[in-house]
Amino acid sequence: MPQKNKAVFLDRDGVLNQEMGDYVRHFEDFHILNNFDALKTLQDKGYLLLVATNQGGLAKGWYTESELAKMHQHLKNIYSEHGVEIIDIFYCPHHPDFTGDCDCRKPKPGLLLQGIEKYNLDAAKSYFIGDRERDVEAGTAAGVKGILINSDQPISEVLDLIE
Ligand SMILES: [Zn+2]
Repeated sequence: MPQKNKAVFLDRDGVLNQEMGDYVRHFEDFHILNNFDALKTLQDKGYLLLVATNQGGLAKGWYTESELAKMHQHLKNIYSEHGVEIIDIFYCPHHPDFTGDCDCRKPKPGLLLQGIEKYNLDAAKSYFIGDRERDVEAGTAAGVKGILINSDQPISEVLDLIE
């Protein structure tokens, strides 16, 4: 059996970019946090960097899939300019009030399970850094170790929790 990969999943708002109320709706509200060195360290340790984010604003019609794709390309570009490759961004486009229940909105583990499947991950060697209890719950449900940080807290402060 080929060896499995390991990953650090990251929540988006409050972890990679500043929390801005419910959702970041506009491109200009997208303020990227300086976690470049910390993520470079994880990348150098062989972790794939994946994002898992609830985007219920899609279900509410606050922004479109193409606007979201532009924001995500921008996020990837900025990190890439600093030597950090965000490999993939998994998002839940649903919201229970608009589209009903789904399997991917955190605290459900669906987004993480998608990542585990797509990148042949060893869940037990993977992590999920998020700023909400629901992130840790989703991680636990997927067999990934959850790490709770405060909103906008630097990732460097939790690096020693990751092997
Ligand atoms: Zn969903």
